[in-house]
Parts: sequence; structure tokens; C-alpha cells
Amino acid sequence: MTKDFELACNKMVIEQLKARNIKSLVVLDAMLNVPRHLFVLDDQKNEAYNDSPLSIGLGQTISQPYIVAYMTEQLELSCGMKILEVGTGSGYQAAILAYLGCEVYTIELLDELALRSKKIFTALNINNINVKHGDGYSGWPEEAPFDAIIVTAAPEELPEKLIEQLKENGKMIIPVGKIHSTQMLKLITKKDKNITEKDLLPVRFVPMV
Ligand code: SAH
Repeated sequence: MTKDFELACNKMVIEQLKARNIKSLVVLDAMLNVPRHLFVLDDQKNEAYNDSPLSIGLGQTISQPYIVAYMTEQLELSCGMKILEVGTGSGYQAAILAYLGCEVYTIELLDELALRSKKIFTALNINNINVKHGDGYSGWPEEAPFDAIIVTAAPEELPEKLIEQLKENGKMIIPVGKIHSTQMLKLITKKDKNITEKDLLPVRFVPMV
């Protein structure tokens, strides 16, 4: 990373993440080392480490750094876990999961974004991310079940197929709610085939379509 980006990234980790109680050292380490500025559009690079989501074109956004860190921390991931992400977008969240040593399967509806993120992963030599261009509502049955599922676009209701593809004791984090309104970020856990739902915080994501 060049000096300016490195400084901005350090500042982001201290002021936006540590200050707001992100505690997981592995998550903080990933946020410190994955170059977020490489996942945003050229004219947004100077804002890459700002405390906000940014447009990535096609009406889509890269989430605010805090939300990426928070969602990742909630999943309590460890190296080697198999993770499904719905909504690849810029690829930044997937790169954070990959940095933690997870085997990442990520699905993106828009071909252009799927291609763009694949190129970035190749350029960064990241080889534990598999990108599929398709509809996340179906999940990735050939690779299921997953240790954890992270959904970064908001459906109006919990997608049944994704819950089915979660391992026993697995966790899923997902924003649920109406389009263009505030959604509730939920943590879903599967235990003895029972599903528990916990409301975490109000969020605003682009809709899952
Ligand atoms: N995780 C992303 C942010 C994603 S924005 C990042 O780190 O940058 C949400 C993404 O979900 C958008 O790219 C959008 O195209 C995608 N999306 C919306 N509905 C989808 C669906 N049904 N299946 C797969 N992707 C979907």
C-alpha cells in the first residue's frame, strides 16, 4: 500500500472499528491488510477509507468499513471454514473473508461486477475465492453445506434455500426488510435443526433482487 492509503487505513481501523468495539484481532488484522482502495472506483479512491458506503456503479455499493468488520466478527470464523457470500459487489467483503483463511464462495447477480471482482482477486493473488454469476436466492447447492453464510443485499424475508445450505451449528448474517427502508441485521443460528433469530442492528443495504 502507498503511504497515504496505509495511513488512511490505519486511521479507519482505530477510529471506526476499535473505537466502536470491534474486538476480534483477526478481523482487525484483515481490515488493516486488505487494500480497500483497490475495490472502489478510480474516482473514489481518496474516499475509500471514509466512514461510509461508496457507490461501485450499477446502482450498487461497497458497505461501510464498520459494517464489514461487524458482520465478519459476528460470524466467529476460523481458518479453513467454508463460507457462502451472497452479493459479491466490489469483492471487498469476500477478500476480508479470504484473508481470514476461509474458503469463500460468492455469488453476484450482475455479470459486470462478478467479472470486475474476479479480476481484482487475480491481481491480488487471492486464490481462495470462487465467484459465481447468478441468483443468490438459490445459494450454491453443489458446494453446500456452509459453515457460515453472509448476505450483503437485503431480501424482504429470510431465504429458505440459504437456511437449508447452512451446516448444523452454522451461522448466517443477513439484513432483512423492505426495499428503500431500514432493514434489521439478523444473526441466524441452526442448532438441532432449529433456527434461532437474533436482531442485531438497523442497517441500510441495497435490495436483494
Ligand atoms: N459485499 C459487497 C457489497 C454488496 S452490494 C462488497 O463488499 O462490496 C450488494 C450486491 O448484491 C450488489 O452487487 C448486487 O448486485 C448483489 N445482488 C443483489 N441481489 C442479488 C441476488 N439475488 N443474488 C446475488 N447478488 C445479488
